[in-house]
Amino acid sequence: MGAKEGFILFKRELPETRSPEDRINDYKEIYKPFEGEKLNQQAARCMDCGIPFCHQGCPLGNVIPDFNDAVYRNEWEEAFHILRSTNNFPEFTGRICPAPCETSCVLGINKDPVAIELIEKNIAEKAYEMGLVVPKPPKFRTGKTVAVIGSGPAGLAAADQLNLAGHEVTVFEKDHKVGGLLRYGIPDFKLEKWVIDRRVDVMEKEGVIFSTNTDVGFNIKADNIIRNFDAVILATGAQQPRELKIKGADLKGIHFAMEFLGKQNQVISDELPENPIAAEGKHVIVIGGGDTGSDCIGTSNRHGAASITQLELLPKPPKQRTVLNPWPEWPMTLKTSSSHEEGADRVFSILTKEFIGNEKGEVTGLVLVDLEWKEENGRMQFVEVPKTQRTLPCDLAFLAIGYTGPAQNGLLEAFGVQTMENSLPKSKEYQSTNKKVFLAGDMRRGQSLVVWAISEGREAAVRVDEYLQGNSFLPRRDEGYYEVEEEMLTD
Ligand SMILES: Cc1cc2nc3c(=O)[nH]c(=O)nc-3n(C[C@H](O)[C@H](O)[C@H](O)COP(=O)(O)OP(=O)(O)OC[C@H]3O[C@@H](n4cnc5c(N)ncnc54)[C@H](O)[C@@H]3O)c2cc1C
Ligand code: SF4
Repeated sequence: MGAKEGFILFKRELPETRSPEDRINDYKEIYKPFEGEKLNQQAARCMDCGIPFCHQGCPLGNVIPDFNDAVYRNEWEEAFHILRSTNNFPEFTGRICPAPCETSCVLGINKDPVAIELIEKNIAEKAYEMGLVVPKPPKFRTGKTVAVIGSGPAGLAAADQLNLAGHEVTVFEKDHKVGGLLRYGIPDFKLEKWVIDRRVDVMEKEGVIFSTNTDVGFNIKADNIIRNFDAVILATGAQQPRELKIKGADLKGIHFAMEFLGKQNQVISDELPENPIAAEGKHVIVIGGGDTGSDCIGTSNRHGAASITQLELLPKPPKQRTVLNPWPEWPMTLKTSSSHEEGADRVFSILTKEFIGNEKGEVTGLVLVDLEWKEENGRMQFVEVPKTQRTLPCDLAFLAIGYTGPAQNGLLEAFGVQTMENSLPKSKEYQSTNKKVFLAGDMRRGQSLVVWAISEGREAAVRVDEYLQGNSFLPRRDEGYYEVEEEMLTD
């Protein structure tokens, strides 16, 4: 596995990024290319640890040591087959996955972990370069039809797998283009949209039908879909934003993060958004310290905002793991994203009290107060710090405080899907309370990650295939994958 002493000989190295001053002038990817030899060295750091925890860390069960070994030996085709056998879209995850595999890499106990995500991206790109990612329609068609509602990573993965199994798959998407949050949420500087187009093109040539601008429940009734398809997968995401219920939250200039990011991505996709939101010259406040907030910072900097402040209710996390957060748990440490590097003030332990507006109903400021966090009866509680209340200037505020679940628009009810108290749909093995309707991705598990959405799409596809045919040859997580898959493809 790799070079015997690779992890001693080579340090973890990632590609250089373009300087923050340069990259905020455009929306292009921030990484510079990485030389082949350096990549072999990074793969050589994988150390044959015996029990690779990275498998467990990856929600797809990617067979990481095996593809690392193949990259080390320069066997790119082999590396791609191993990777593709568990991951339909490594070109997405290789760019935007937070890489839980790396946080559970055994090398990470006392050294920097193997650069798995980087290796994954390079395997995917090399595969396209070598002409390995070409349309391979299934050998047989079953005559069964499946409707997938939603074209985010969960819907795309489910469609890809079910098409492979020989079913006729139609993906319905309400937006103008395919991709879900990959296209309309995640900014281009993390994932350029040609990467999605390139994959969708292959899927179309393999026989997947995409019906865009089709809002199911609105343009087509749920009954119609249920009547005309043998099975349905709902993969409509969890895009119901959490509201900030404070005084003044209805003033002009206060938006949910996705309104801002979605409109910017429409511009990138050559669509003309209604009422575009411009941050140029404005004092921007981003409420919420997570990744969506970070994407708002990167986008505001590219717009030319006068100032950007990101607020987080919770205390500032430590730079290193604490004893209470040992390997291989997800590290609860301070994350500094590329957008943070580009410039923003980050304020932790802070409570938003009230927005202030002018006579035109526009936001002009945000009243804040510092917090002190204390543990009481085993739970962290906060108290306001006296005499710290102040007002920050604010012309534009973005609420990036998460999502509560699937959109509350009657879609689930129309498909006969019952929900739980937390508004997520009830499901057993990805099947909803309507036996013909299956669920995948954020809409089933709540707001999550692209890698989880792909995993959910793959698993839901297995259950649909079983429902339609009685059994399934589609791979499940942690099974012997790619031999099955290769058998089913046309040569
Ligand atoms: C700003 C932002 C940045 C993120 N960054 C990252 C990141 O860097 N890395 C990461 O791993 N994760 C990231 N995530 C999370 C990730 O994007 C999601 O977990 C993932 O996209 C969920 O996939 P999904 O397919 O379940 O749903 P979605 O991607 O939400 O796709 C659902 C699709 O269903 C469509 N739809 C909904 N209702 C209907 C209907 N009635 N008819 C037809 N179509 C419908 C929607 O238009 C959408 O296209 C980010 C999320 C956000 C909001
Ligand atoms: S998909 Fe994400 S978690 Fe899985 S191997 Fe790739 S980077 Fe790691």
